[in-house]
Amino acid sequence: MAFDEKLREYARLTVRQGVHVSEGIYVIVRCPIIAADFGRMVMEEAFKCGAKDVIMQYSDTAATRVRYENAALSQFETVPAWQAEQSNYYAREGTVAISIIAEDPEAFAGVDGEKLLASAKARRAALKEFYDIMDAGNLRWTVVAYPCAAWARKIFPDVSDTQAIRMLWDAIFKSVRITRGDTVRKWEKHDRILKRRAKKLNKFAFTALEFKNSLGTDFRVGLPEHHVWFGGSETSNDGYVYFPNMPTEEIFTMPHCMQAEGTVISSMPLSYQGCLIDRFSLTFRDGKVFDHHAEVGEDALTRLLDTDEGSRRLGEVALIPYDSPIRAQNILFYNTLFDENASCHLALGRCYPNTVKGGELLSEEALFARGGNHSVNHVDFMIGTKDMSVIGITASGEHIPVFENGNFVF
Ligand code: ZN
Ligand code: ZN
Repeated sequence: MAFDEKLREYARLTVRQGVHVSEGIYVIVRCPIIAADFGRMVMEEAFKCGAKDVIMQYSDTAATRVRYENAALSQFETVPAWQAEQSNYYAREGTVAISIIAEDPEAFAGVDGEKLLASAKARRAALKEFYDIMDAGNLRWTVVAYPCAAWARKIFPDVSDTQAIRMLWDAIFKSVRITRGDTVRKWEKHDRILKRRAKKLNKFAFTALEFKNSLGTDFRVGLPEHHVWFGGSETSNDGYVYFPNMPTEEIFTMPHCMQAEGTVISSMPLSYQGCLIDRFSLTFRDGKVFDHHAEVGEDALTRLLDTDEGSRRLGEVALIPYDSPIRAQNILFYNTLFDENASCHLALGRCYPNTVKGGELLSEEALFARGGNHSVNHVDFMIGTKDMSVIGITASGEHIPVFENGNFVF
């Protein structure tokens, strides 16, 4: 397949499998300016699928950085109502949302952390309506990646920028299964495997999981009653199948935010708000991080944990076999969308309400009472290794092997 054909296939995959654009719906496309060529392809595909209109929301990381360096902190503490209304309005009217990301992992290195934090908090609050509609299962969304030079250079530092971008495209296409053959059929088969494993985990209804490996992870996390494992596609309330992340290899659920004990050691670096955090450990007691260390980026890790009460507790636990096509490429992407799909991970911060039965209908307080964490953050970090073992504990106290040597037992 020629490059242009693959790119077109990627746009088609994003629109059809990603958000499943349906007749008469609005489509919001969040697009970095450097990805404008791909953004326009996505737009065309969306109209082909019957979109009522496509709203392009362009962004420019370099301009955002200039703003962080020059505007006062107060400018980041609120989002003007007119700006938030653009997304909130379409969410009310019925939209799907496509986010194209082209992130330089160190785009905001050295920028005042307080501004980054204020901006994240203000944005979350201003777009509460948009996110509430999304969390309730009434807004289909997907995230796909596009290479920028700084990102490609970070992954492949020894080649020219042009070569690095070409290599990153190749890695992205492999990760989303755009190779020879029918991409849609490959996604359907992959989805079936994820669904089968999630179903099995739901049947076990474990009360806790135990993680151990030679890096030093020795950790037990409780699972709330009626937690639900998800993997692969999701189905919106109006019955459309979509994929929130492309690629996706994970099967995930809600950890009980008051039940985590022991230490987890990161198995991959974490890129957080443009800062790199590497070789770190978190020690939990009663569900809360009470001790942390990082060989690289400890300040950023501390800032993340200090964001709010919920940033010290867990909102997601995810299982990914070591033998995934992303891991098989043996590339560190410095991007959560890919790296989280290479490895078992946990997330600090907000839970996905629907990962406990009926959770999307509960108030924040009621969800919390069932073990669902809330926070402005949701930050995934990787703990999976080739020798990871995971044991599930049933209500009757039985120990069932889930992972041996980094892979699913079933
Ligand atoms: Zn995840
Ligand atoms: Zn996550």
